[in-house]
Amino acid sequence: MNNKTIRAIKGTQDILPEESIKWQSLEDQIRKITSHYGYHEIRTPAFEKTKLFSRSVGEETDIVSKEMYSWTDQGGEDLTLKPELTASVARAFIQHNLGRINPINKLYYIDALFRRERPQKGRYRQFHQFGVEAFGSEHPEIDAEVIALAISIFKSLGLEGLKLNLNSIGSPECRINYRAALQKFLKPHFSELTETSQKRFNDNPLRILDTKASHEIKILEDAPNISDYLTNEDQTHFNEVIEYLDILEIQYKLMPRLVRGLDYYTRTTFEITSSNLGAQNAICGGGRYDGLTEMLGGKPTPGIGFAAGMERVLLLMKSKQFNKNKVQIYIVSLGEKTRATVIKLAQDLRNQSLNTEFDLLRRSLKAQLKEANKMNVKYAIIIGDKELESNQLEVKDFLTGNQQKVELNKIIEHMNSLSF
Ligand code: AMP
Repeated sequence: MNNKTIRAIKGTQDILPEESIKWQSLEDQIRKITSHYGYHEIRTPAFEKTKLFSRSVGEETDIVSKEMYSWTDQGGEDLTLKPELTASVARAFIQHNLGRINPINKLYYIDALFRRERPQKGRYRQFHQFGVEAFGSEHPEIDAEVIALAISIFKSLGLEGLKLNLNSIGSPECRINYRAALQKFLKPHFSELTETSQKRFNDNPLRILDTKASHEIKILEDAPNISDYLTNEDQTHFNEVIEYLDILEIQYKLMPRLVRGLDYYTRTTFEITSSNLGAQNAICGGGRYDGLTEMLGGKPTPGIGFAAGMERVLLLMKSKQFNKNKVQIYIVSLGEKTRATVIKLAQDLRNQSLNTEFDLLRRSLKAQLKEANKMNVKYAIIIGDKELESNQLEVKDFLTGNQQKVELNKIIEHMNSLSF
């Protein structure tokens, strides 16, 4: 490759045919399982007004403060490539009044996101998520349903070694008290905290619980638990979520440190991790956000959802699950006169939903048969001048090696009667 060759941007990936087969299987499975649970797809634009994310994701988060791809366009508007989906889906939900049309809206998405993070295995600058957002119910049934849906998708993909971590962060009222208790606990350790945590201490101390610094994790071992600050209603809600998960035989681990720092998050939070992924072990994060629509200027509407990283899920999927779109029939032809018949026959077979190929390089008979063999086709149809004159084509079964003569005007019917 010389230095004039243009390469893809760091942290982005081309998905080549061998890989896209895997993506398609994953997407098929997502569409299938979400439909069992009554979810419908929503697609939102690749970019939005920057203020949508600064307002909903939060100015002080890593995403908004340092990872967004933002620019001012020719019309002077501040725009950003989507770094996450919940904000866009909530914006669309409000804009199109979906809550007025249906009391419950169960939406799913499969989409590309952009964050300027440090690229490493399982972490990219353009990556993909699938996820769901369910608007309209505050009741714990939907919390359990959303978690069950995530688990069902992962199970159907054959993923192993998954763990569901679960917590409730209660309502904003209970978090005021918890926040004060956490600050009181951390105050004597303030000088030991990282710069980032020191910054978060006043604005958003709950986010200190997300730290990856081992000395901070150690300090936090004795920190107060949010579970001790839940209101009675919050506790009842959480108990019911847990009861439903037990009924559904879904195993979980209670994780009192699993929090989300923004005010619109409420009650249930969860994450799903895999022991087979190394450092970037989170495959899915989710939770309830009853305050979000109101914060974006909509009517207060309870909501809950999750987002799962598709690249990480694909790393965990075993190759046996992927079905290649195999070529079923190869038309082997020889001679100039056969070309018109071949292109028409290929079209007719394809119209019958049969995956059909023919030679586009005008190669020798031997080379074409070799190609058909390499493609692992089930049948070849052989047409030369002789076959064209007699209107009798040869159909070769690659599995048995048998060859049979079939009339040209009966070939479609014949190929349709074969098993592939
Ligand atoms: P988040 O939107 O940050 O809660 O992330 C949800 C899921 O998206 C994570 O559990 C990961 O599986 C995945 N994810 C987040 N950031 C990246 C990234 N930069 N590259 C690949 N996957 C990511």
